[in-house]
Amino acid sequence: MGLVAQLLFVALPATTAGASIADTVTMASVSPRVFFPNGDGVTDTTRLHYELSRRATVSVTIRDYAGRGLRTLRVATAQAAGAYNVSWNGRSSTGGLVQDAAYRFRLTVTNGLGTFSLDRYVTKARHAIYPQNPGSITVAIDPGHGGPDPGAVRGTANEKTANLGIAMRLRAMLLGAGVRVVMTRTSDTRVNRGLVDWTRDGKVVYRDELASRIEIANAARADVFLALHNNGTPPGVGGTETWYDRTRTFAATNRTLATTVQTQLMTFLRTLRTSTWYPKDRGVKALDFYVLRSYLPGYCDRPTLMPGVLPESLAMGSAYEVRLLQSSRGMQVIAEAYYEALYRFFATRTWGARYDLISAPPATADEGSAQSARVRVTNSSPRAWVAGAVSLTLSSVPAVPWYDGSNAPGTRLATIPLPALAAGASTEVDVPFTVPAYATATARGGMTILKVDLLSGTTRLATAGVPPLQRWMTIRSVAPPPTPTPSETPTPTEGPTASPTDAPTATDAPTDAPTATPTDAPIATPTEAPTEAPTEAPTEAPTEAPTAAPTDSPPPTPTATPTDAPTDAPTAEPGSASPVPNPS
Ligand SMILES: [Zn+2]
Repeated sequence: MGLVAQLLFVALPATTAGASIADTVTMASVSPRVFFPNGDGVTDTTRLHYELSRRATVSVTIRDYAGRGLRTLRVATAQAAGAYNVSWNGRSSTGGLVQDAAYRFRLTVTNGLGTFSLDRYVTKARHAIYPQNPGSITVAIDPGHGGPDPGAVRGTANEKTANLGIAMRLRAMLLGAGVRVVMTRTSDTRVNRGLVDWTRDGKVVYRDELASRIEIANAARADVFLALHNNGTPPGVGGTETWYDRTRTFAATNRTLATTVQTQLMTFLRTLRTSTWYPKDRGVKALDFYVLRSYLPGYCDRPTLMPGVLPESLAMGSAYEVRLLQSSRGMQVIAEAYYEALYRFFATRTWGARYDLISAPPATADEGSAQSARVRVTNSSPRAWVAGAVSLTLSSVPAVPWYDGSNAPGTRLATIPLPALAAGASTEVDVPFTVPAYATATARGGMTILKVDLLSGTTRLATAGVPPLQRWMTIRSVAPPPTPTPSETPTPTEGPTASPTDAPTATDAPTDAPTATPTDAPIATPTEAPTEAPTEAPTEAPTEAPTAAPTDSPPPTPTATPTDAPTDAPTAEPGSASPVPNPS
């Protein structure tokens, strides 16, 4: 520390004792989050607004999604405490417009307390995603393969690396637009790192790797699931295709999503055409990939609960397509296509809702007792709901390990009509209910799952691909005092009316009060949209796969965080291994 800096430090008022350099920046935000310099005078530029609590030397640079510098907007400028703006027109230091993608403003302040930097994402794209309330939407991105599984291989090129490169670029664009993102991995690893037997069949196999990806999306109650792949085709064969499952109750939505994705992939890939290469449209196809498939007891007990697709953006059989997949521009164009497809999907889908549990019912309660929950419901569809058209329901469904993936309707405990809700608007509702009889849950020793869903007419939104909020409850038996029947005819007590003591302690029901809720846990925490994530710590965000042992106890919590913090993207590492034809 130089003499001047020391003097500055000493000269600071006493009230700042214990202050840290980070306190120098009291706010930093970008507006608009999505901008597009096309000369319409509306979103041609974007602006970083920041406020300083004390004097500092300030620099502002523009970086790409991974943190690499592109342009300097403000060079070591001395600024007093106060509010400042710096805007950017989407041009690099050489004056050309940059590619549509995610970028970062990096604000660096220096004074006697030290040096501090923070990043704010911004997205350059034609459209903002669900501008009514982007933070109400969660996108699950699953970069196919990873770690020991390279996916398709051609020479030194691995599918897993391209999948991740595309996924990280898409993720940054979505974060820039204010959308929540949950990733199954953000580096070159398997997802099921704890080698958990997710399918509970006594062995840990590749299906458990796929199941762990599903768990992360379900735990976040994501709106859509994108399994990003590139095809393992025979040499010389290229092309683009998108898969969906047509057996789901929300198959029509899956198909719409798949068609939208495929159309945008073709549109964006055409911008890369050359005199010798043109993208080949292999179409939209249906197959029950494990990460997309329907519920099947004993095989897939917890399928993805939301619409999903598995696009193969390019094919490794084509030497030119491999080159595109190894280029930043190629991966970015594919990410743009997914971004645009998501914009279109969220602007037109029929149903969308987000639940936040504001106040949970107790984990254990007496049968017949009056309880309540408080739930915030957000209409994340593009349409307004008229008063009473949508009702919130609370049902009790049979306890199964972790959470119900069967979409069982259960026994209705409460139905609360919702008020009118504009697109993107929220309401909080109290849900009073009576705890069901212990006898309804004897098979699981009193365990039941409380499930919050929405109902429109006869359509349960869970059936339409809106993952319900689920929570465990243990029902306590209130044993009736043994009625010592007077001299009358001895009423021979018919069979053992399940008394709590002989209730079979179900092997797969959490015996200890399961405090954590499977679907809730990861989502309950956030409340804060991805807006203000300091980039200081380029941590591995969510990737960490569930490490919970697949015992019966508390439902495992996959570690993916929905409130995804911007991260320094991993620079795709090459890997090597043997060819595997593209499973998942
Ligand atoms: Zn693959």
